[in-house]
Amino acid sequence: MYVEVALPLPVHRTFTYEVPAGTVIGTRVRVPFAGRRLIGWVAGPADAARDVERVLPVDAVLEPSPSVPDGLMRLCRWTADYYLTPLGVVLRAALPAGLSRPGRRPPASRTRRVLRLTAELPSLTGRDATFGRATRQRACFEYVEAAGGRADVRHLTERLGFSRTVLRSLVARRLAVFEDEAVERDPFAALPSDTGPPPVPTAAQAAAIRAILDGEDGRRPTLLLGVTGSGKTLVYLEVLERVVGRDGRGAIVLVPEIALTPQTVARFRGRFGDTVAVLHSALSDGERYDAWRALREGRRRIAIGARSAVFAPIADIGAIIVDEEHEATYKQSEAPRYHARELAIVRAAFHGAVCVLGSATPSLESWHNVERGKFHKVELPARVGDRPLPPVRVIDLRSAPRGDGQRAVLTEPLVTAVEERLACGEQTILLLNRRGYSSFVQCRACGDVWHCPHCNVSLTWHRSRRRLLCHYCMHEKAPPSVCGACGSDALSYRGVGTEQVEREVARTFPAARIARMDVDTTSARWAHHEILSRFGAGEIDILLGTQMIAKGLDFPGVTLVGVVDADVAMNLPDFRASERTFQLLTQVAGRAGRGPAGGAVLVQTSLPHHYAIACAVRHDVHGFLRRETDERRAPGYPPHTRLLNVVISGADEGGVVRAAVDASGWVEAVIRRTEPGRVVLTGPAPCPVDRIRGRWRWHFLLRSAAPGALGRVGRALATGWQAPAGAGEVRIVVDRDPVTLL
Ligand code: ADP
Ligand code: ZN
Ligand code: ZN
Repeated sequence: MYVEVALPLPVHRTFTYEVPAGTVIGTRVRVPFAGRRLIGWVAGPADAARDVERVLPVDAVLEPSPSVPDGLMRLCRWTADYYLTPLGVVLRAALPAGLSRPGRRPPASRTRRVLRLTAELPSLTGRDATFGRATRQRACFEYVEAAGGRADVRHLTERLGFSRTVLRSLVARRLAVFEDEAVERDPFAALPSDTGPPPVPTAAQAAAIRAILDGEDGRRPTLLLGVTGSGKTLVYLEVLERVVGRDGRGAIVLVPEIALTPQTVARFRGRFGDTVAVLHSALSDGERYDAWRALREGRRRIAIGARSAVFAPIADIGAIIVDEEHEATYKQSEAPRYHARELAIVRAAFHGAVCVLGSATPSLESWHNVERGKFHKVELPARVGDRPLPPVRVIDLRSAPRGDGQRAVLTEPLVTAVEERLACGEQTILLLNRRGYSSFVQCRACGDVWHCPHCNVSLTWHRSRRRLLCHYCMHEKAPPSVCGACGSDALSYRGVGTEQVEREVARTFPAARIARMDVDTTSARWAHHEILSRFGAGEIDILLGTQMIAKGLDFPGVTLVGVVDADVAMNLPDFRASERTFQLLTQVAGRAGRGPAGGAVLVQTSLPHHYAIACAVRHDVHGFLRRETDERRAPGYPPHTRLLNVVISGADEGGVVRAAVDASGWVEAVIRRTEPGRVVLTGPAPCPVDRIRGRWRWHFLLRSAAPGALGRVGRALATGWQAPAGAGEVRIVVDRDPVTLL
């Protein structure tokens, strides 16, 4: 019998093979392909139009029953089609990597060696005296300190490059000890789950639950617009109680980033125990495969995870929940470039399942769907227990008194507010959405800025590593001593990052216990977890970090949130800059005042009158959505249109320009012939970041209010365009519904 097999190759077609009779769709097979052996999936009956003279038999059928159930295959087909990606590439992304390497399980180690700090060195002068010229010891101490006081030894030595001698010196000087720590195979499995009696839904929650489950139009997705602290999680839990607990169906719960939402996970596990499989990026291939099989075999019926959990192999889905539906992390940044919120809606419709999209700051797209009647809307306008939303006060950086010296990053009112919290034992969150120490190094004489040699972005100064680092390609170099352009030695470090704020905070509040949470302190497995549990246990007074700390945390002890610089995201050349700024400010403000002691928010900004900031200060989500929807109309951005961002890249700049001009001309001809006036081309032009990892980048945009037309043009481009001869090696990426144009 002949079938089509989807292979994980960047070609937009399937391949015909012969399989034993009775082999069903979704079965994994190994096939000979151009002298190689590849793993693929049976995708359907053979294409009758194909030449059947040269059909080869598959090497092996790898499983007795298909790994891809019907409903999942249908979702993968939809994904391939909409996101203009080969089906085999989608299947590979949708299934655990373990399935491509059967039988090999990475061994899980049972204990790990950690370095735990035993001394505190609160004052900078104390630190200078202790470490003197031992800068590596100091850097190591400060890394472990920022990571919450404990760090994996292998991570310190292998990933961060500290020598054993440095670690041993810290131990010899009684600043730290080595300890063996039992490794939980999966810390989420051992989370202290809320086992107490579940809270009784408030009247508002009960109404929301009824509207979601029993609304006459229950088959439309529901946008659950609930202010921060309004108890959206309990609504999700009650929806699942009905769908899974009573009706015995399955469910998927998507969260933006699982390491940042341990509390949400704990609540689901507390309620549904072993029915829940937690899928997250820190799982090893073996662990992921175990979780996946448990779902496939129906031993677990609720999958919780980040975006890829939308592909969980659950046969009978009764509900799909997307928490914080506005989050950019739901968009995958490599092929297939799917948006998990979109797939959640599609998959729920296939299964006749309830679909709930929850947020305090919904995306413009979802809001637009509410206004057009495609989604229905349920609101939770107040916090649980009638706690007020915290008052937000703006500190205008253009006129504010600085703490001390012109380099100070904390203004006097913010310093005073933090001091008050420290005095009464309450906790503070400080947000700065920029990591590193200084975001660029500039020559005072000629103004030259140090750039990455491979990417057109400035290098960020990381003080504790003593390195300039590129945040796009990880290129590192030693700090310069003189300007390469003019030879001057007057260099200034500009643009404050979290590392610098941390030093400033440590200096200003020497007695405070501080932790920093950003990409640099959380690269170890479970590092997020350690910092957050220490914060939850009250062992940290000030938690400082990037947008990581703005999401979903529910810590009643936090009475102050300070935003060090609200303008960071606003200055990016991206059409979502205002939306991101509003969301980030509203979300981080929502971490304050969740307990009986109340709370307050202080926002440092140079743009106090910008509507994104002004609306966040007033907690005015409706006002923001109205205004931003208007702002997007004239330039023709989503939600009024759909976008396709086409990026062409290559090592040779001239070749990239030629290819971009050629591709946009080619696509323009297609539009004229097939969709005249329905799809609009803009560009080509250099991308805002026009070089990454040594590759030049040009792009053009296709936009249309008609998704079908946009899809047809995009498909023609992805499958039909060939780079012109002489352009050299160029790569084309077609990104549908991009979340960023950088
Ligand atoms: P959101 O996700 O909307 O910001 P959460 O779901 O985190 O809010 O809920 C905020 C807090 O309110 C949590 O500590 C939660 O346990 C509590 N809570 C939610 N619903 C109720 C209720 N009906 N009664 C008492 N406490 C509740
Ligand atoms: Zn210079
Ligand atoms: Zn770079």
